[in-house]
Parts: sequence; structure tokens; C-alpha cells
Amino acid sequence: MSTATNEAPGNDALNARWRGALMDNYGTPRVPITHGEGARLWDADGKEYLDFLGGIAVNSLGTGHPAVVRAVSDQIALLGHVSNLFVAEPPVALAERLLTLAGRPGRVYFANSGAEAVEAAFKIGRLTGRRHMVATEGGFHGRTMGALALTGQPAKQDGFHPLPADVTHVPFGDIEALRAAVTTETALVIVEPIQGENGVVVPPDGYLAEVRALTRATGTLLVLDEVQTGIGRTGHWFAGQAQGVEADVITLAKGLGAGLPIGATLAFGEAAELLTPGKHGSTFGGNPVSCAAALAVLDTIESEGLLERVKAAGERLRDGVWNLGHPLVDRVRGAGLLLGIVLTEPLAAQVQRAAQQAGFLVNAATPEVVRLAPPLIIGDAEVDALLAALPRILDDADASAAAS
Ligand code: PMP
Repeated sequence: MSTATNEAPGNDALNARWRGALMDNYGTPRVPITHGEGARLWDADGKEYLDFLGGIAVNSLGTGHPAVVRAVSDQIALLGHVSNLFVAEPPVALAERLLTLAGRPGRVYFANSGAEAVEAAFKIGRLTGRRHMVATEGGFHGRTMGALALTGQPAKQDGFHPLPADVTHVPFGDIEALRAAVTTETALVIVEPIQGENGVVVPPDGYLAEVRALTRATGTLLVLDEVQTGIGRTGHWFAGQAQGVEADVITLAKGLGAGLPIGATLAFGEAAELLTPGKHGSTFGGNPVSCAAALAVLDTIESEGLLERVKAAGERLRDGVWNLGHPLVDRVRGAGLLLGIVLTEPLAAQVQRAAQQAGFLVNAATPEVVRLAPPLIIGDAEVDALLAALPRILDDADASAAAS
């Protein structure tokens, strides 16, 4: 029987259908979002939200940015896909642009997601001839098996062993622990400049530079997983670059494609030469439409001065939340527009729900940390709207916890 209908289905009806049709790996109910404009989204009941989550740091230009719409529609009309036996202009142009932004010669492998970008980095690591890899506790690198082996969250690995072997996890931000783990047999060290999924955890100043020095000394590849922090999110093209750290491999995804699926693995020096013909591949990787969208993102970040905008909006948001002086707020951490509100109690899920009720989308990254990752185009008025609503949202979260 067809479920098509001319009536607007509404949140409950959509959730009932989805419960029957989609795998429940994300849990239900979920808010059915029907459309958006800029940093605003609407659900199937017609309720409007200000989006402080950005599809989890994906919708860098919000919804419906004219540059993306134009680039995507022009490209799909011209050439929507070509097999990797051939090559099209957009992936070449995008690779050139990304390497220019990185400021160094190198080579790019295109995939379709963050996990796949990491998977390619994993394979590059193995192709050094060394097996051992070091990653960080709490780090998140994706759900495919290689990326999952690097992910330092045992609960996410549960049920999937055996994973690829020879991965050591060390506490994030602890250079001594890393020194003890990394040897001249270590293929790669992978770190996020800021741990996003783990609750926007910022390492101590100088940590990345020390990781760089250590990996250089042992001939180990340094992989910076910038899937969440890259492409303007922290007010810089790359978060590592902002600290003067030149990784051997950089993984990107999320904000790169303005919502179109794309992942990129940038490799420099010897690491750029290891994926030789036949070693890796992907049917959709380098898709011209995704690459055209990404080029539009890069153009727009430049033409609209969004790196500066991110710094200014990030500061306004961060200081604004802190200056509320709300007793539930312990700290605000992060960089640019990747911020974590660390709560004094594990009420992030309640805050997420209360915010949603009040018309704001945020995310409980961990039980204690509310993550904010709005589109890079977020305006001062939109930031101020959240700041004005936040005391009440935090009070409501506290009250709902007390009542339950
Ligand atoms: N690496 C990091 C740092 C991430 O934040 C994520 C996604 N949260 C991934 C990898 C995996 O990306 P994807 O979900 O696109 O596979």
C-alpha cells in the first residue's frame, strides 16, 4: 500500500512510519525536519527551530545557500557522476584548492564520509609497512571497522570484536602517555585537534606540537582527524594549521560539502605516495556534485569572510553563555563555532530537550556536555536569541530532572 498522501503528515505520523521502515540504530522518536532556510529549520508540525547544531557541524552554510544550490544544480545537469576510470574537473579543482589551503604540496583521496576518510588514512598507515597505531581515549573516528578500531570509546566497539589489531589508546592530551606508547614500529598516531564527539575536549596548549615532534622523531605518520574541526569550524581552515602543526595526513568530511556526502584524505610527503594503483577505491568518491558543493563552500567562506565571522560569533556565543552565570554551567570550552557547554550535572539530554521545546537545536554530546556547532553563517541576532532563551532552557532542564 502506498503511504503517499497530500496531507502534511506531522511529526507523530512520520515517526510512526519511520519506526516501521528505518533501522532503529539512532533511536526514536526523532524530530522530522522538512525544510530550512539559512540557520532556521522547520519540522513536520510546522514548528520553527534555530539550528545551533548544523547537522552536527555539517551544514556549514546553513540550508539553501544560493551558491551551493547553484553549484549543485549546474553540476548535476552537466555531469552527475563519472566512474573513477575517468576523472572530472570538480575533484581535481577541489583537491588543488584544499592543498593550497593546507599550504603544502600533497595528494588527496576522496571518499563519501568521515569514517571513509579515516579508513583511507588507516590503509596509508598500514602501507608504511608498520602495523602498530596509537589513538586517544575518548577519540572518535567513525564506525567502519578500521575507523572503529581507532575510536577510543569501548562502548561503540562493543559487539564488533575482533577489530583490526595493534591499536593502543592513550589518554588525550597526555604527551607522556603518548611517548610511552609510540615507538619506531608505530605506523601512525591519530588525534583530533579538539575531541568533538567526546564533548568538545580541548587538549593542553602545545600538545599537538609535541605530538608532531614525537611522531617526527619515530618516523611515525601524524594523522589529524579534522572531520569535525576542519573547513572553518574553529575560525581557521584547519585547526592544526592554526597551531602551526603540519600533519602527514588530514581527514576531512562534515562541513566540507555543505550537506552533500564527501570525505577527503589529504596526504603530504611520503604518505602521499602510498595509495598506489589497486590499493584502495570507492565508486562514489570524488563525485562531481559533492565536489562542486565543496568548492562552493570554500568560495563562500572566502567571499563572505566566514573565518572572521566564526571567530566573532564564536566569541560572542562562548562569552555570552559564560556571562549568564547560570549555576548549571561549569565551563564553556572549544574554539570558534565548535563549543561545549560543560554542565555541573549530567543533564545535557534534558537541556537538549528543553532547547528543542523552546525552538533551538543543540546536542547532548555526552551526559554532561551540550555541543553547539551552528552553521558558520550564524548571525549575531541568532546568537543573541539563544542567549536570551538559555537561562529558561537551563532552568527547565533542571526542573525536568528534579521532577523525574
Ligand atoms: N572523525 C571525527 C572527528 C568525527 O567527528 C566523525 C563524525 N562524528 C567521524 C570521524 C566520522 O564521520 P562520519 O559519520 O561521516 O563517518
